[in-house]
Amino acid sequence: MKHFINIRIMILSTAAILMTAVFCTLAYYNVLRKEVMDNLKVCARLLSDKMMINGEEALEDYAHDLYDDFRLTLIRPDGSVAFDNVAKIEGLDNHKDRVEINQAMKEGEGESVRRSATINHTNYYYAIRLKDGSVLRTSRESHSMINIFLHAMPLIIIVVIILIIVCYFVSRELIKRLLKPIEALADNIGREDQECPYPELEPVLGHIRKQHHDIVEHAKVRQEFTANVSHELKTPLTAISGYAELIENGLVREEDTYKFAGEIHKSASRLLTLINDILRLSEFDVSVRDDFEMEEVNIYDIARTCGEMMELKAKDHDVTIKVEGEDSFITANKDMMEEIVYNLCDNAIRYNRPGGRVEIIVKDKTLHIKDTGIGISEEYQDRVFERFFRVDKSRSRKTGGTGLGLAIVKHIASIHEAAIHMESQPGKGTEITICFP
Ligand code: ADP
Repeated sequence: MKHFINIRIMILSTAAILMTAVFCTLAYYNVLRKEVMDNLKVCARLLSDKMMINGEEALEDYAHDLYDDFRLTLIRPDGSVAFDNVAKIEGLDNHKDRVEINQAMKEGEGESVRRSATINHTNYYYAIRLKDGSVLRTSRESHSMINIFLHAMPLIIIVVIILIIVCYFVSRELIKRLLKPIEALADNIGREDQECPYPELEPVLGHIRKQHHDIVEHAKVRQEFTANVSHELKTPLTAISGYAELIENGLVREEDTYKFAGEIHKSASRLLTLINDILRLSEFDVSVRDDFEMEEVNIYDIARTCGEMMELKAKDHDVTIKVEGEDSFITANKDMMEEIVYNLCDNAIRYNRPGGRVEIIVKDKTLHIKDTGIGISEEYQDRVFERFFRVDKSRSRKTGGTGLGLAIVKHIASIHEAAIHMESQPGKGTEITICFP
C-alpha cells in the first residue's frame, strides 16, 4: 500500500512538472513571437520612412548596419524581387504568393511565421506596402517552440529528479505519519477508550468494534456453556460411579440393591435428557429456518395431544390441566411445535403448587400457557431464557430439569419468527405467550 501511494505521488508530480514545462514553453514562445514581430514592424516602418526621403539607396545603408540573421527584401508590385540583402535576387522566384506579401498588397501590412529549413528554427516575416505599391519585407530567424523546449530540457530533467527524490522521502514520511495512529488503533481495537484518529474512519471502526465485541461475547458464552455442560454432566456421573462402586465392593445389602439400581437408572436418564437437550441446542446453533421441514400445522391439535400426554405428570404434581381455544394453522416444523408446547407445559406443572392449575389456550396463531405456580420475580424474567439459568437450582434438578428448556423454546420461536412474551408474579403464577407471524 505504502509503495503504491509512493509511486503514485511521484508519477503525479512528474506529470505536473512536465505539464508546467509545456505550458511555460508555450507562454514563452508566444512572448518571443510577439517581441520578434514588434521588432520587425518597427524596423520596417523606420526603413519605409527613410526610403521616402532617400529613395531605395536607404535600403543598402540600412542593410549594412544589420545583424546577419536580419533580412530585408523589396518586392515590386508584380511580385519580382528588387532587393534582398541575404539572397541573390536572380535566383529568387516570384514572391506574390507569399502570405505576408499578398496580405500587405491587399491591406497595407501583413505578417507570417513559417518553419525554417532546420527544425530548430522559425522564420518571422513582416511586410508593409510602400507608396509606389512595392512591398518592403523584414524578416529574421528565431527559436522554434521545440527549440525552446529542448533548451529547457536539462533543467526540467534536473527538477524532475530532485522532485522524485523529495517526493519519495516526503511521501514516505507522510504515509508513516498517516498510518501510525491507524496501526496503534489496530493494536488496541478492543479498548473502548482508544480514540478514532480520523473522523472518516469512525463508521468502519464502529463496525469493527461491534464485531469484535460480538466475537468476545460469543467466546465468553461458549466458554461458560462448556463449563456448565461439564458441571451438569459431572453430577449424575459422579452419582452413578459412586453407587456402582458401593455395589462393586459389596457394601450394599441385598435388599438395597434395587434402590441403588433405581438411583443409577435415574441419574443415567438425567444424563440422557441433558445430552439430548445439549445436542438439540447445538443443532439450532448451526441451522437456519430453511434447514427444517416446514408444513401446515394446527397448534390447537398439538396442544390437545400434549395436554393428554401430560395428564399423568400433572396428576403426580396434584395439578389440573385444561386445553382451550380453536383451530389455528401456521407454517411450522411439527416436532418443534410439540417441543415448545411440551417444554412450556412441563415447566407450568413442575413450578406449580399442589392443587394448582395449568391452562393451554390457542387462539389467532397465539399460544398461551398459564399456570398458578410459584412465578418468577421480575429480575429473572429475562434470564430464565439463558442456557442453564435456573431460579431455584435444587427444585429444577429434583423435578428433572436441565436448565435448557426455555433456551430451546427461545431458539424455536426465533426460527419461526415468533415473539415470546412473559408475564409472571411470584406466588401467583406465570403466563407465557408465543405469537406466530
Ligand atoms: P428447567 O429445566 O430448570 O426447568 P428451563 O429453561 O425450562 O429449565 O427454565 C429455566 C428456569 O426458569 C427454571 O429453572 C425455573 O426457575 C424458571 N421457570 C421456568 N418456567 C417457570 C414457570 N412456569 N414458573 C416458574 N418458574 C419457571
